[in-house]
Amino acid sequence: MKREIDLDLKQRAQKVLPNGMYGHESTLLLPQSYPQFFSKAEGAYLWDADGNKYLDFMCAYGPNVLGYADARINEVAVAQLEKGDAMTGPSPAMVELAEVMTDMVSHADWAMFCKNGTDATTMAKTIARAQTSKRIILVAAGAYHGAAPWCTPMPSGVIDEDRAHIQMYDYNSVKSLEAAVAEAGDDLAGVFATPFKHDAFTDQALPDPAYAKRARELCDQTGALLIVDDIRAGFRLTRDCSWELIGVRPDLSTWGKSFANGLPISALLGSNSTREGAGSIYATGSFWFSAVPMVAALKTLQILRESDYLEHMIALGEQLRAGLQSAADEAGMGFRQTGPVQMPLFLFDDDPDFRTGFAWSEAMLRRGIYVHPWHNMFLCQAMTEADIDLTIAAAREAFAEVKQARTSLEPHPVVAAMFASMAAE
Ligand code: PMP
Repeated sequence: MKREIDLDLKQRAQKVLPNGMYGHESTLLLPQSYPQFFSKAEGAYLWDADGNKYLDFMCAYGPNVLGYADARINEVAVAQLEKGDAMTGPSPAMVELAEVMTDMVSHADWAMFCKNGTDATTMAKTIARAQTSKRIILVAAGAYHGAAPWCTPMPSGVIDEDRAHIQMYDYNSVKSLEAAVAEAGDDLAGVFATPFKHDAFTDQALPDPAYAKRARELCDQTGALLIVDDIRAGFRLTRDCSWELIGVRPDLSTWGKSFANGLPISALLGSNSTREGAGSIYATGSFWFSAVPMVAALKTLQILRESDYLEHMIALGEQLRAGLQSAADEAGMGFRQTGPVQMPLFLFDDDPDFRTGFAWSEAMLRRGIYVHPWHNMFLCQAMTEADIDLTIAAAREAFAEVKQARTSLEPHPVVAAMFASMAAE
């Protein structure tokens, strides 16, 4: 595999970008052979800066749901770009998009649009406080809701006051949620929940309906708002809010990543009970009203409603899960696949510092398959049964290779140091 261009870019980036890269796009916590820079993406495939081609199970960390550079989306986006994107006010598409999203998402009566998931979750937090005149926001420990000081997983630059009135509970635990609500007393403004537990570095878990229903009851009893953060899973589990699948309707839901197939837009949807709070806050951004992502969203959502994209992704996900399981069993490797089949996470047994998972992921990369060793992945509509067969065949070889090398695998320096410092705390 060629790496010259990527290595050169990495070196140049060290001088002009903090740490050479930041946030979830940094490859600092990925196997060392993973490319940092990409030159092209089409359908289910991705090309790095050196021209190496990969079947991409990260889908841009979620935005790619139909396939990269989908011609149907590009056509409407380019046509709108030629007419106008960021203008002195929004285009008519904004009203249409709000109508479409509130039609598709059962709990929603209104919509607000922004750029990133963090915009939507932060706005949800503010609206919960504005609507209830209370302060405390509950979030599940380890859940990710964005990169603003109130929710970032990294402590640097964050002061206690940024986190004041943000309290934790354990996902899927009725007891823990009840205790956190009791502790909040009469100051509870909102409860955040992701549709399922999709935290990094750990097995995923589907929501226990008893926990979700109790969250709804406790919010009803206290007047707090229930907020489902559907930014990662939205429209990948169902064509509605994800908790509709277990019969629980939130007051607010946050959306991002996939619903414009990769164009920059996110959304906050709310029920009528939150309209007053939503109308009272000041929320805006220079690019929040741009027309191009809105027409892309309208087209994407039309395709999501009219195609079998979801059933297709689930069928491929089932094929993948079964094929990988039998390949792992054949190799005698303890391999765990968790979460919905269309959003899988792969971890290895007896792999506390992830060295086996890292080696297996690198072995997959060398075979042209981009998987992630500790974050959930995504399937997309553009993938085919042949792509999944290819993945399973590569995995069979990768399991054998890693099994043979297992006793001589080295820990990843940055990841090992991170776990060591966490253990010391
Ligand atoms: N909530 C969830 C559940 C997410 O997965 C993410 C992003 N991974 C966010 C919020 C924040 O979204 P963004 O990175 O677009 O700000």
